[in-house]
Amino acid sequence: MKIDEGNFKGVWILGEQRETIISPVSYELLTWGRELADKRGTILASVILGYNIKEKVESLIHYGADIVYVVDHPDLQHFAPDVHSNILEKLVQEFMPEIFIASATTYGRTVMPLLASKIETGLTADCTGLDIEKDTGLLIQTRPAIGGNIMASIITPKHRPQMATVRPKSRRPLPKDESRKGKIVLKEYPDELYISKVKFIEFIKDETAALPIQDADVIVSGGKGLKDAKNFKMLYELAELLNGAVGASRQAVDMGWIPYSHQVGLSGKTVSPRLYIAVGISGAVQHLAGMSSSQTIVAINIDPEAPIFKVCDFGIVGDALEILPLFIEKVKKINT
Ligand SMILES: Cc1cc2nc3c(=O)[nH]c(=O)nc-3n(C[C@H](O)[C@H](O)[C@H](O)COP(=O)(O)OP(=O)(O)OC[C@H]3O[C@@H](n4cnc5c(N)ncnc54)[C@H](O)[C@@H]3O)c2cc1C
Repeated sequence: MKIDEGNFKGVWILGEQRETIISPVSYELLTWGRELADKRGTILASVILGYNIKEKVESLIHYGADIVYVVDHPDLQHFAPDVHSNILEKLVQEFMPEIFIASATTYGRTVMPLLASKIETGLTADCTGLDIEKDTGLLIQTRPAIGGNIMASIITPKHRPQMATVRPKSRRPLPKDESRKGKIVLKEYPDELYISKVKFIEFIKDETAALPIQDADVIVSGGKGLKDAKNFKMLYELAELLNGAVGASRQAVDMGWIPYSHQVGLSGKTVSPRLYIAVGISGAVQHLAGMSSSQTIVAINIDPEAPIFKVCDFGIVGDALEILPLFIEKVKKINT
């Protein structure tokens, strides 16, 4: 949609739910959305599509939305990209938000490009930062480009809404405020919008995966300073004692000490646990990009000048191979 085709206003986030439970990424998006809406001096709305969800969307208001647009229909029980993008297209055409953001989850990555092409606007995928440009009020969409070697700031000056997806876990939800008031708007659409080319057969849950690092409350992460793959055993032991998961720097992954699925950082996962313990990790910007929003950061490094000490809450200068066994013993004692 061209900028002069209407009076675009408001910031929208795309809420997500699974089996009628609102997904935490929706609340993280509200943190981004609230900040952008406040900077623009406008309202923040959440859109959410599903079946049997209309009684459950109040929490989106408690986490920052002023309005929730809900579409509740049996044909929205399972995700069909064509149906979801049809409905979102109608909503956007009716309410004309100036900004519309989603999470870079499978859902957001699938439905947002479809929507952007239908309504003829731009979309920046997988952003690590979003902000409002002071002079123009435009959405600045920041993401790594050219293999992660530069950070590109992208704008959408001529089309609306300005659309972006942001990495899950790149922000924490705002504190829940059950006294917040907002409006819930239930929308209905004609049957033809629900006709899909996709036939749902079965949903098979992955029961085998261990705790993925993005979902862990505690992450014990290792880098090149661990010297050898066998020393990661200590990280696994510590992580298990703390009910957490093991992360790694790219150097550790490149060395073949641990699989890529554990890599934290620009070209790995973004995490935001309550506790992040960085062991033998220098704190390169590309690593920090994936973990700096962790609540508490502990660093163990032999070099007192290591950049990780500039971002950590607690720093231990020393040899990780000597400190880790003592750390493990201490935690064992506390646990008994
Ligand atoms: C495009 C691009 C994308 C990238 N993406 C990522 C990414 O996603 N994630 C990522 O991590 N990196 C990424 N990198 C790589 C990044 O630049 C760093 O090279 C990497 O993070 C360094 O890993 P490290 O801290 O394990 O190793 P180093 O930088 O070599 O640091 C090792 C640290 O261990 C300490 N040490 C040594 N011995 C001990 C000891 N006995 N006890 C305690 N400490 C010790 C040293 O003092 C040092 O600080 C990327 C780079 C590029 C160019």
